[in-house]
Amino acid sequence: MSRIRYFDHAATTAVDEEVLKEMIPYFSMEYGNPSSIYTIGRNTKRAIEEARKRVSSVINCDAKEIYFTGCGSESDNLALKGVAYANRDKGNHIITTKIEHPAVLNTCKTLEKEGFNITYLDVDEDGLINIEDLKNIIKDNTILISVMFANNEIGTIEPIEEIGKIAREKNILFHTDSVQAIGNVKIDVQKMNIDLLSMSAHKFYGPKGVGAIYIRNGIKCNKIQDGGHQEKDKRAGTENVAGIVGLGKAIQLSYKNLEENNNKISNLRDYYEMQVEKNIPYVKVNGHRDKRLPGNSNISFKFIDGESLLLNLDMNGICVSTGSACSSGSTDPSHVLLAIGLPDSIAKGTLRVTLGKENTKEDVDYLVDNLIAIVKRLRNMSSEYLNFIKNKG
Ligand SMILES: *Cc1c(COP(=O)(O)O)cnc(C)c1O
Repeated sequence: MSRIRYFDHAATTAVDEEVLKEMIPYFSMEYGNPSSIYTIGRNTKRAIEEARKRVSSVINCDAKEIYFTGCGSESDNLALKGVAYANRDKGNHIITTKIEHPAVLNTCKTLEKEGFNITYLDVDEDGLINIEDLKNIIKDNTILISVMFANNEIGTIEPIEEIGKIAREKNILFHTDSVQAIGNVKIDVQKMNIDLLSMSAHKFYGPKGVGAIYIRNGIKCNKIQDGGHQEKDKRAGTENVAGIVGLGKAIQLSYKNLEENNNKISNLRDYYEMQVEKNIPYVKVNGHRDKRLPGNSNISFKFIDGESLLLNLDMNGICVSTGSACSSGSTDPSHVLLAIGLPDSIAKGTLRVTLGKENTKEDVDYLVDNLIAIVKRLRNMSSEYLNFIKNKG
């Protein structure tokens, strides 16, 4: 097989060499438990606190407001359940959107079973929520608004600062799942009035299985896992020291060359979309054209089954995604694509390409050449396409 060309950075990323280098001592020499008070315990404790500082300086909060978790999904669970349980006396209404990641949507479903009342906001054809809709749905018993910073399928970036302003005015807590955005977009939790924010290291060239959550000082958020008193009693369990060190290094690196990397990646993305639109008929680019993550491209290829396209590309060493990685293997059309109004028949022919810092123009040319050939071949095997062409001609 040819070498791997990886275009699925929204699913996960490879650990950066520099990140790995900082992590390695914490798998061997520095094995002390951070809760132990002898020297090698204090060393790992110090490493965790350094990582905490690196995260807090990136989003402009106090290091004490950062808590490490096991993944982005856990951070989302903690934010929603933690706030819901701790503020039950104030109300049981939570507002979110129809396009959230399953880590938020399925947590909301659990909360519904426990008596919470959830409103799922619609989005427009670009994937943006409507601020007026949000204002109108707020009630006296609304305790939390949870809107993702950027969508993992179509890359659309939500109006976070505007949402934060409304939440603050109405005295409602505001959580954002920033798992896709952080490392790609500048985030300032003060300026944006964010009260809780989720992140996950493996989406920004850090290791898998470690996440973090920002919880603003003084807000009520219960722990959701019982045990020891680690992470200021918010998250029981001995810390994943190497992972936390990796998360800290990775977030620092992402923001060091943010603009340079973003320009390179978005230029490559625009080049990819231009080549596809020029060479392949009957395609539709999804997501907002400007308010979009730099590396994200989500394109529907009419008369094609996305899964067949993905598998054919895989045979040539190309990694892409159909909807979100979490829903691959199921044949249901993506909830995000349905929410932006795509009919089932078009949604199912959708390919998500997410570019990263190691991709080159040559990689993209290889992808486009393969797409042109495979789409043509698959369409010529589709009776729907052949009928369409016959009736058109
Ligand atoms: C990947 C992802 C998650 C889940 O993060 P994990 O660390 O894989 O649990 C949550 N939300 C969004 C938007 C994501 O893209």
